[in-house]
Amino acid sequence: MKIGQLFINNALVDAKNSFKHINPNNNEEFATVAKANEEEVNLAVEAASKAFIHWSNMTIKERASIIQKAADILIEMYGEEGQETELKLLISNEVGKRLPEADIEVIESSDMIAYYAENAEKLLSDRELSLNQELWASKKSIVKHIPIGVIGVIKAWNYPLEIPIWTLAPALIAGNTIVFKPSEYSSFVGLEIGEIFKKAGLPDGVLNIITGDGKTGEYLVKNKTIRMIDFTGSVETGRKIAIECANSLKKYNLELGGNDAAIVCDDANLELTANGLVWGSFCNSGQVCVGIKRVFIDKKIKDILIDKVLDKTSSLIPTQDYGPIISEEQITNIESFINDAVNKGAKILTGGKRIDKQSGLYFQPTVLTNITKDMKIMKEECFGPLLPIVFVDNIEEAIAMANDSNYGLGASIWTSNIEKGLELSNEIQSGMVWINDVNVAFPEAPWGGIKNSGIGIALSDQAIYEYIEYKHISIEQSEEQRRIWWYPYS
Ligand code: NAD
Repeated sequence: MKIGQLFINNALVDAKNSFKHINPNNNEEFATVAKANEEEVNLAVEAASKAFIHWSNMTIKERASIIQKAADILIEMYGEEGQETELKLLISNEVGKRLPEADIEVIESSDMIAYYAENAEKLLSDRELSLNQELWASKKSIVKHIPIGVIGVIKAWNYPLEIPIWTLAPALIAGNTIVFKPSEYSSFVGLEIGEIFKKAGLPDGVLNIITGDGKTGEYLVKNKTIRMIDFTGSVETGRKIAIECANSLKKYNLELGGNDAAIVCDDANLELTANGLVWGSFCNSGQVCVGIKRVFIDKKIKDILIDKVLDKTSSLIPTQDYGPIISEEQITNIESFINDAVNKGAKILTGGKRIDKQSGLYFQPTVLTNITKDMKIMKEECFGPLLPIVFVDNIEEAIAMANDSNYGLGASIWTSNIEKGLELSNEIQSGMVWINDVNVAFPEAPWGGIKNSGIGIALSDQAIYEYIEYKHISIEQSEEQRRIWWYPYS
C-alpha cells in the first residue's frame, strides 16, 4: 500500500495527519494519503514565495525550456498507445480510468505543455502600444506581462493529470510559483506531477504539492501570501472559494460543473450520433464536466435512434468498457437522481442500478425517458452514467430546453448539415459547442463555461493571461519643460 507525503521544495516530507484512499476498481485500500494542516500549507506557500524571486527573474525562454522538458518526460511515460506504463496504471488504480482514457490524458497533457512552451515568448513579450499620434506624438507606451506571485491551484479528480497540467504549464511559464492541491481522490497523480517537473529541472520551491481534503484547500485559499486561486471543481466549492477570494481580494479563475445538452436534429447521421451519445455520456462512467447530461431528440427519429443507443449501452462491459464511480458517496448521489426522476414519472430503459457482483464501485450505464423539467436531473449536474432523453417536436423547443439551465459549460449538436449546426451553435448558451462530436479539448482553443459553469478561461492563448498582471510604462520623449495639460502649475 502506498504511503503519501507532501512535496515541498522538490522534496517529499511527512505530514502530521493522513486519510485512507480506496481503489475504486476493487474497493480495496489503495493508499494512506498525507493531509496537510494549516501549518504545513503555510510552509509550502513560504517555499513558493521564496522561489518566486529567482523564477520570476528568469527569461521566458529559460522557463519555457524547462517546462518543455516536462512534455518530453510525459512522452516517455506514455510509451505507446495501449501500453500499461507506470503512470497510466497509477491513473487507473487511483481514480478508476480505463487504459484508453489514461492514454489520451497523458498524450494530451504533453501536447498542452508543449503548446505553451512554444508560444509563451510570443504571448508574453513586452508590447509597445500604438497611441493616437494626434494627441500623444511624444509618448511611448510599453505593456509588460508580469507574474502574479504565488498561485494556489486546487483541482478536481476526474482528469487528474491533464486538468492540473493545463493550469500549471501556462502559470509556471508566466513566472508564477505554485502550491497545488490535487483532489483527495487523486493525490498520488498530483505528487507524480511534482516529480515530473522536478525531473524537468524546475528549481526548488517553484511547484509544491500539498495533498489533503477540502479543509486543506480552505487553508490554501485563506493564506495571505497567495495572490490567486485557480480552481476546477463543483459550483458549490467554486462559490465558497470566490467568496473567500473576495474577502482577501485575490484573483480567481473558476472552471466549474455543467449539465451539457446534446441536441439531435432530424437529419443527424444516426449511427454516428448513437455512438457519440453513448461515448459522451458514459466515458469515465459519466464523471466528466462536459459529458452529455441531457439529450434532446427530434421526435421524427426517436425510435430508430433509441434502439441504437440501447443496443450500444447494453453491450458495454464493466471493467472493460467503463470504469468505476469514484466513491460510495457518489453512488448514493447518482441513486438519488434516479429515484427523484422515477418518482416523478421517468422510465428506465436500461441500467439504473449499482453492479453488486463487482467488488468495485461500478454503476450500470443508465438510459431514461419520460423526463420532465421539474426533475433534479434536468436542473443539477449528476456526476455519473445517466443519459436522460427528452423528445422534442422541433429544434426550437430543444434549444429552449437546453438553455433553461443555470449551467453553460458545453453542448453538442448532431446534424449532417454543418451550416445548420453553426446557426444553432449561436443560439446555445454555453462556452463550448461541438458539432458532431463532444468532449474534445485542444491547447489552441479556449475552454470554459458561462453562467454558473465558470469565470475565466483555461487553455488557448487567452488562458496564459489569466496568470499575469499587466504593467503599463509610459515614457515622455519630448524635451519640453512642461506639458500643456499641467495648466496652472508652472
Ligand atoms: P469538488 O468541488 O468537490 O472538489 C474540487 C477540489 O476542491 C478538491 O481538490 C477538493 O478537495 C477541493 N475543495 C473542496 N472544498 C473546498 C473548500 N471549501 N475550499 C477549497 N478547496 C476545497 O469537485 P470534484 O467532485 O472533485 O469534481 C467534480 C466537479 O468538477 C464537477 O462539478 C465537474 O463538472 C467539475 N469539473 C469541471 C471541469 C471544467 O473544466 N469546467 C473539469 C473537471 C471537473
